[in-house]
Amino acid sequence: MPRPAYRSRKGLRIIKVRTPGGRLVYHYEKKKYNPPRCAVCKRVLNMPKMTPREARKGFRTPGRPYAGFLDHRCLREGIKKAVRLMAGALQ
Ligand SMILES: [Zn+2]
Repeated sequence: MPRPAYRSRKGLRIIKVRTPGGRLVYHYEKKKYNPPRCAVCKRVLNMPKMTPREARKGFRTPGRPYAGFLDHRCLREGIKKAVRLMAGALQ
């Protein structure tokens, strides 16, 4: 049982467990988060799994444009598409 302040927080989820004696007790478990995925193809991004809170704090290191949002394949395709569009517009 976590201390009272942590019982209402979003980091933990409550699981109701019926004991052999018929009592209903609450178990607290850490929430599971889905890994970050590419916005286009939904493949798992190659970055550490973290809570949304951690992700907001800047653990997503943007080493390149769209880091933490697109995977390298979709980024490559997007850049190619943009270059083709530009080339077509110039002619
Ligand atoms: Zn992708």
